[in-house]
Amino acid sequence: MGKVFEQKCPSCGAPLQFDPERGKLVCRNCGSIQDIPEDSDKVEEVSLDGLDFTALTEQATDEAAQALPVYNCVSCGAEVIAPAEQIATTCPYCGNNIVLTDKVTGKLRPDALIPFHIDAKQLPDALQKFYKGKALLPKNFFSESSLSKVTGVYVPFWVFGGRLDGMLRFQGTTSSTSRQGDYLVTHTRHYQLRRNVDLSFRNVPVDASGRIADDLMDSLEPFDISDARPFDMRYLAGFTADRFDQAKGDMAERAKSRMIASAECAAKSTLYGYSGVYRTGGSLRAQLHAQYMLLPVYLFSILYGGKSYDFAVNGQTGKVVGTLPVSRSVSMRYFLLRMAAASAAVAAVFVAKYMMGA
Ligand SMILES: [Zn+2]
Ligand SMILES: [Zn+2]
Repeated sequence: MGKVFEQKCPSCGAPLQFDPERGKLVCRNCGSIQDIPEDSDKVEEVSLDGLDFTALTEQATDEAAQALPVYNCVSCGAEVIAPAEQIATTCPYCGNNIVLTDKVTGKLRPDALIPFHIDAKQLPDALQKFYKGKALLPKNFFSESSLSKVTGVYVPFWVFGGRLDGMLRFQGTTSSTSRQGDYLVTHTRHYQLRRNVDLSFRNVPVDASGRIADDLMDSLEPFDISDARPFDMRYLAGFTADRFDQAKGDMAERAKSRMIASAECAAKSTLYGYSGVYRTGGSLRAQLHAQYMLLPVYLFSILYGGKSYDFAVNGQTGKVVGTLPVSRSVSMRYFLLRMAAASAAVAAVFVAKYMMGA
């Protein structure tokens, strides 16, 4: 039997729930409120230099796999079965919020989390703002669409920081044209350029769950990581939470390529006066460190016209991401209007030329 942790109201014994607006635990039964004392301890960053990421992750994943999928609810005694990746859930029998503690201890213990700041009640308002100005929405969208159940999930992330140093090589070109007799001659010069790079990075999050689309999670950024606090199970009360299943090493590669892209950009921005600049080589050394963090995300889908559209909301900022259905007739009308505008412009140019020639 796996171990569980539960928060019970000290006054009435009903389950306590984390309230994002107050940042406290509240009892929905008697209304009593409990503080979550903040640990003044700084969140510790673990250095990854010289560590074998894959071995670390495999070991941790094995530990999780050995954890039993069956838990006893402390409140009602019922057996609760939880999927391997879940670390917090609600007892389907008595509604008690439980954390599956064997999945958040040892190597599986998250370093930090950002609590939910947006309450599920605020989601309809956030969605209204998102719909605003979306001219291509089908007309009957508001009457015909419906929302699936909203789940507040703490999504596992690796949050990377570190340093890149080394050198990047670029080739830059300039060209000038001059008249020599009857000829126009273009001179192109090529320059070999180099820039030394020494850049520090902080708080680059990479989603560590294979079950959630990476691009959906990437678009939820930014998260304000300075608001992260040391992991505390009490913040999970009333939400579900997943543990990581993506190796830290693979994710480090993703973080590294994002950092290298910004380093290239930064280096290029110092090379002005060239008509073209492209990278030809160089190498960068990366020293990375990472924290295992849980970040707050609401997930739901919008059902419309027999199709389901996935949506996510940043539980810290309220940012909404997802793709809305596009009305075919409306978008056709837009296309025709734009075509009409374009041909009007062409006609105007033609008229102007004709008048000049006349
Ligand atoms: Zn109570
Ligand atoms: Zn129960």
